[in-house]
Parts: sequence; C-alpha cells; structure tokens
Amino acid sequence: MEENKFYVLPKLSYDYKDLAPHMSEEQLRIHHSKHHQAYVNGANSILQKLDKARKEGTELDVRATLKELSFNIGGHLLHSLFWGNLAPAGKGGGEPSGALADFIDKEFGSFDRFKKEFTQAAVSVEGSGWAALTLCKQTNRLIIMQVEKHNTNVYPMFRILMVLDVFEHAYYIDYKNERAKFIDAFWNIVNWDGINKRLAEAK
Ligand code: MN
Repeated sequence: MEENKFYVLPKLSYDYKDLAPHMSEEQLRIHHSKHHQAYVNGANSILQKLDKARKEGTELDVRATLKELSFNIGGHLLHSLFWGNLAPAGKGGGEPSGALADFIDKEFGSFDRFKKEFTQAAVSVEGSGWAALTLCKQTNRLIIMQVEKHNTNVYPMFRILMVLDVFEHAYYIDYKNERAKFIDAFWNIVNWDGINKRLAEAK
C-alpha cells in the first residue's frame, strides 16, 4: 500500500449547519474549508519544498522552513482535534459524565471551577491561539495549556483531550471581535462523549 506522505483535510462528522446557532453554517464552512485547508496546503507545500531541495541538493533556510512547517502542522492537528471536540447543537454541551467528570472534579474541585479556568485561559490568549485541556501522564493530572499561534507554549508529550480555537477567524463572522461571547457559545456544543473517549485512549 502506498503510504500517504502528505496531510489531508479531514471530513467533519456533522454538517456545516449543525452547530448553529452557536456556530453558524458560514462561520464553520469558512473555518473548515478555507482556514483549515490553508494549513493543510501550507504544510504539504513545505514538505514538497523539502523533498525537492533534498532531491536537487539545493540549500534551504532550514530555520525559517521548520518554523513555518511547525506553524502549519500545528494548525492542521489542532483543527482536526477541534472538529472532533464539537457536537451538533442539542447533542453536545452541558457537563461531562463518567471518568472525565470524576477526573475534572479531582483536579479542579468542580466542573464550574474547570469551566472558569478554561474560559479564562481561552479569553486571555495573547493574539491568536488556543486553550487546550491536556493529560500529563507523568503526574496523572489534567493541565490546561494556553497555546499561542499553533505551536508556542506546547508541552511536549502531553495528550490533548480538548481544544478551543480563539483565532479571530474562528468567530469573527458570528461574534465580530467578541471572543468571550464565542467562548460562552462553545460550551453549548462541546462533545463530552468524544472527549471522554480521548481520555480513555490516553490513559
Ligand atoms: Mn482556526
């Protein structure tokens, strides 16, 4: 079998319209088919550039190339996780159950405390970035990661369970510049079952 040596835009498990009114059809369509696609294309074109330079034996600005590659691969991987963290309106949101609920209570004291800290992490990302709930397997603790851009402040090896994109492109159509309103809406479409599954796989 031919290995796939390039990245591919993943299909969503729901329709673009399914997250409305929390995330509009237009917002999700542009985010997935334009912005996410751009990171896939960006990463692939850098890989092709590396392949070509290696084949032809030409020089590259390795530092700049790898920086750009990290940004684009980070974008692709985080968006791929993000789509899986969302559920159609009416099917997601509320509070988690099962092992994830217990783990959140153990780490944060309560779901409300977790929600508050995660919201603050997302609201306060400087510029463009992400809030992520992660599992550190060395300490068996849930740790919130505040990622700048797609690749700064990332803890290597931590397993990401849940992410929230707070790049302006994630919410501008629906909420203009009001990031906090978008984050409030996000809590209505969180796919807790999917995040519980990620936790089970990570452990
Ligand atoms: Mn995005």
